[in-house]
Amino acid sequence: MQIKLENKRRKTINVQVGNIFLGSDYPIRVQTMANTNTNDIDASVDQARRCIEAGTELLRFTTQGLREVESLKEIHAQVLTAVPLVADVHFNSEVAFAAAEVVEAVRINPGNFSKDFSKQEERFVHLLDICREHETAIRIGVNHGSLSERMMDKYGDTPEGMVESVMEFLRIAVDHDFNDIVISVKASNTRVMVETVRLLVKTMKHEHMAFPLHLGVTEAGEGEDGRIKSAVGIGALLADGTGDTIRVSLSEAPENEIPVAQDLVNYFADEDSIRYDGSVVAEVLDNIGGNAEVRYTSYEDNWELFCLQAAAECGRLLWDYKATELTLVNPNFSETKLNFLSKDILQAARVRIYKTEYISCPGCGRTMFDLEETIHKVKAATSHLTGLKIAIMGCIVNGPGEMADADYGYVGAGRDRISLYKGKECVLKNIPQEEAVEKLLELINNTK
Ligand code: SF4
Repeated sequence: MQIKLENKRRKTINVQVGNIFLGSDYPIRVQTMANTNTNDIDASVDQARRCIEAGTELLRFTTQGLREVESLKEIHAQVLTAVPLVADVHFNSEVAFAAAEVVEAVRINPGNFSKDFSKQEERFVHLLDICREHETAIRIGVNHGSLSERMMDKYGDTPEGMVESVMEFLRIAVDHDFNDIVISVKASNTRVMVETVRLLVKTMKHEHMAFPLHLGVTEAGEGEDGRIKSAVGIGALLADGTGDTIRVSLSEAPENEIPVAQDLVNYFADEDSIRYDGSVVAEVLDNIGGNAEVRYTSYEDNWELFCLQAAAECGRLLWDYKATELTLVNPNFSETKLNFLSKDILQAARVRIYKTEYISCPGCGRTMFDLEETIHKVKAATSHLTGLKIAIMGCIVNGPGEMADADYGYVGAGRDRISLYKGKECVLKNIPQEEAVEKLLELINNTK
C-alpha cells in the first residue's frame, strides 16, 4: 500500500511574541536555547549573535533567579531588535513575574510553577496580569519526568498526566481571557512525545482551544543520533500538520541546532517539495513473518538531508502501521549505509534496539561540566552495552527528573562534581568528575 504524503497545517490562533507571530497563518518558526551562564553577559550576547546569524527566530535563556532577570535586561538591550527572548523559569514564580516585565515570553513548567497547589491558580493569574500589561507571551512547557507530585499520584508519568498538567493551566488562562500562549509537551522517548502531543491536540479540540504548539524531543543527544531522534519525533508531528515552532535539542553548540531545524521545516513546509513530486515514495508492505514493513524510496543525494527526511517520514509510519521492519531505498548510497540508517531510525522510534541508547540534555546556564567532552567519554566507555539507556545530564535541578526512563544517569551535582543514578535512585553522590566514568562502569557491571 502506497502512503499519500500530504500535510495540512492544524488551524491555530496566532500568538504574537515580540516582533513575530506563532501560529498556523505564519511559517513554522525555528528556535534554540543558549547554553551560557546567563550572568556572563558578554558570552551570552556573543552566543545570541551566533544563533541569530544562524537564523534562530526566538532565543531562550535559563533564568534561575532575579539576578538572571537583571542579566537578561542587559542581554535584551544588546540584541533587542534582532529576535524575541524567552526566559526559562523553573521552581520560582516570583522570577517568572519579574522576567515577564523584561522579555517577550516566559516559559513556565506547570510541574514546578507553584509547590503549594492552593496558591497555584492565584499565582498563575498574577502572571497573566503582568503578561497582559507588558504584552508578554507565555509558553507552558511540560516535560516527561517533571510532573508535579499531585499529577504523578493521579496519572503517573503518562501522556494523560502531561496533557492534564497543560490543560489545567489553559483552562485558567481561557477563563481570564488570556490567549497569548504557546504549548510544549516534550519527552526524550519519541513515541511518548508524539503520543502526548497527539492527545493534547485532541483534548484541546474537544475543549474548543487552538493554541499553537512548540515541538521538540528533549535530551535527544548529539551527532547523527541526536538529529535522527529529533527528526523522528518532530517529523511525525509536522507530517500530521501539527507544530508552529520547533527546537531540535542537541548536546552541541545551540547554533548547530538551527540548520537541522530549518531543513525539517523546509521539508514539510513547501507544497512543491520533493514529497509531492513523486520522487519520495512511502509504502507499507506485509513481510514474510506477517508483520508490516515500511519501505521508503528517495533520490535525495545529500546524506544529511536524506537521514533527516527518512527519519521524519518513517518513525510515524512504523508506529501508525504497527510495522517492525524498515527498508530504505536510495540509489545514491550503499546498501550498508542504508541498513545502518534504517537500524538507527528503528532505534530512535524505539521499535527495535540495536545499540546503547544515550539520553543527554542540550546543556544550559545550569550545566556543571563540559557536556560534549563528557558525552564522548561516557560513549567511549559504554557503547558496547547494547540495550541500556544511559543519561548524561548537566544539572541536578532538572536532570534526574527529565532523564525519565534511563537505566543509569550521570548527573552534574556541583562544579566538577557528579552524582550517579541507577534508575531514579541516586547511588553515588558528589564524586569528583575525574572518577565518574570509571565509577559509572563499575556501577553498571555490579548492578546490571
Ligand atoms: S538538565 Fe539541567 S543543565 Fe541540562 S538542559 Fe536541563 S536544566 Fe540545563
